Amino acid sequence: MAVAQPRCGARTKVGGRCRRLAVSGTSRCSLHQGPWSAYGAEQEKIRQAKAKMKKLRNR
Ligand SMILES: [Zn+2]
Repeated sequence: MAVAQPRCGARTKVGGRCRRLAVSGTSRCSLHQGPWSAYGAEQEKIRQAKAKMKKLRNR
C-alpha cells in the first residue's frame, strides 16, 4: 500500500480544513507553515516592512 501523501489539515478562516498537500519534511502546506519555517520568517519580514512603511507614510 502506498504511503498517503501528508495533507496540511490546518484550519481555514471559513472553518474548513486546508486540503493542500503538505510540503515534504513538514506537516503543513506552504501557506500554513508557521513563523519557524524559512517561508514563514520571510513572510513575517515582508509584513513588518510593510507596516513600517505605512507608519512612515502616515506621519
Ligand atoms: Zn495549509
